[in-house]
Amino acid sequence: MNIPKSHPRFVSLQTREKLVKAFGSGLVAKEGLIAQGRGEALDYLIGEKTSKSAKKAISAAAYTLQNAKNPVISVNGNFAALCTPEIIKLSRILDAKIEVNLFYGPESRKKAIARLLKKSGAKEILGTDLKSARKLKGIDSARRIVDKDGIFSADVVLVPLEDGDRTIALKKAKKKVITFDLNPLSRTAQASDVTIVDNVTRAMKLLVKACKKKKVKPRYNNKEVLAESISEIKKNLKRRARLA
Ligand code: ATP
Ligand code: MG
Repeated sequence: MNIPKSHPRFVSLQTREKLVKAFGSGLVAKEGLIAQGRGEALDYLIGEKTSKSAKKAISAAAYTLQNAKNPVISVNGNFAALCTPEIIKLSRILDAKIEVNLFYGPESRKKAIARLLKKSGAKEILGTDLKSARKLKGIDSARRIVDKDGIFSADVVLVPLEDGDRTIALKKAKKKVITFDLNPLSRTAQASDVTIVDNVTRAMKLLVKACKKKKVKPRYNNKEVLAESISEIKKNLKRRARLA
């Protein structure tokens, strides 16, 4: 990579390289690389920095997670490739379970993700034991499997970079859903209770920090915060167009 570290694109390009490597080692699916492409384009539009609205969503997410009875962090290939240390820190701070839950892919990819998390210090990883598999209603069979001690019995689920069908199924199952999604218009962003419109590589670090401090209940409306994030994108584009 031939770009100075101080350049705003440096981190994005580093992230891209990380994902390509993780694809090579079987952690990330082809579809995960395509999702990364969509994410990069949207991150460009939000200015590759954490917005005010994303900070509000991070505070609300921290409060919701701190007050959950059975919080679960759902992990897919992209999330594991980008945020393993933060996933482990967050699960320790909140005493939250970690479940590998994939939209695409074979058991071998699930196992590779679980191995990476364990090697990095996670005690228990749910989602790979067929005996504790349960079915969520409302999505097709291969994609509805969750762990009985994890997502199936969770009250709050953190599902980063998640597909819309599955988010809607989690809502039907009466879960509170928190997501990281750079697309404020995606079905996941629209269906979740708290949508953090930011790159997971920046926002997970901030969420870990926020969860360390006891939060008071914020006044929070996800639809309003999503609308704010869209106006921030518009403003950013106008500003960039003037500079061009
Ligand atoms: P939906 O199914 O919710 O309608 P989709 O089919 O476009 O949306 P999915 O592949 O199902 O998208 O979900 C991945 C989402 O994650 C996309 O909205 C993408 O923009 C977002 N995304 C990709 N990379 C990142 C990242 N690093 N940080 C945050 N969000 C990301
Ligand atoms: Mg989708």
